[in-house]
Amino acid sequence: MRYIEPHAHMVSRVTDDYVAMVTAGCAAVCEPAFWAGFDRSSAQGFFDYFSQLTEHEPKRAAKFGLPHFTWLCINPKEAEDVALADDVIALIPQFLTKANVLGIGEIGLNKNTRNELAVLEKHIALAVEHDQLILVHTPHLEDKLKGTRLIVDLLKGHSGVKPGRVIIDHVEEHTVEIVLNAGFWAGVTLYPESKCTPARAIDIFENFGRENIWLNCACDWGVSDPLAVPKTALEMRKRGHSAETIDALIYQNPLRFLSQCAKFKL
Ligand SMILES: [Zn+2]
Repeated sequence: MRYIEPHAHMVSRVTDDYVAMVTAGCAAVCEPAFWAGFDRSSAQGFFDYFSQLTEHEPKRAAKFGLPHFTWLCINPKEAEDVALADDVIALIPQFLTKANVLGIGEIGLNKNTRNELAVLEKHIALAVEHDQLILVHTPHLEDKLKGTRLIVDLLKGHSGVKPGRVIIDHVEEHTVEIVLNAGFWAGVTLYPESKCTPARAIDIFENFGRENIWLNCACDWGVSDPLAVPKTALEMRKRGHSAETIDALIYQNPLRFLSQCAKFKL
């Protein structure tokens, strides 16, 4: 089995996770910038985090033979502080030329507030200005449907955004069609406690087709499983899906999307 893990927060994980992922067939890992579990006190904290993502974590991953890529932004949770967000967004361009940076993400919404929307808009403008791929986080549970609609409307309203270069992540049964019908890619996140179980993810994929969908584990400092993608592949095998179908979903689809950035080479 071979797969690409397109969404994992490896700075929060131990080296055993790298070993396990490579052993399971992981060919590359992509790490969007996100919330650290606490609010950073200044833009300087983000400067250090972006340095970690672009210089130090790729070296750590390389020790285990795993190519490491990243996405940069201030996450929606901390974007409520618009002045801080402005300072952080101003830091990003100097990092965009780093060898492992694929685009802007994971931007998006958390509680669907006015400030979050304003900062999301600024990130989209930044991505368009620098011709970057975009990775979007959608809100949790009760805020997800409204948040997904707001995000899709905002992206659609920007003439510079090419939907095929945007992935909207953490879709569920009630949001996947909104995303795919608008021409965007959809990410399905596999979580042990919230988001999707392997069974639900496979149902989504069986009902909505395998085009422009990827699976990810989004493992971080909370309850999460860095091997969720290969475990879901085993579940697909049990349901009778062919090796070709599984490979298309967990390897070729992310490869197709990510290869739109010339820096993504395996
Ligand atoms: Zn994430």
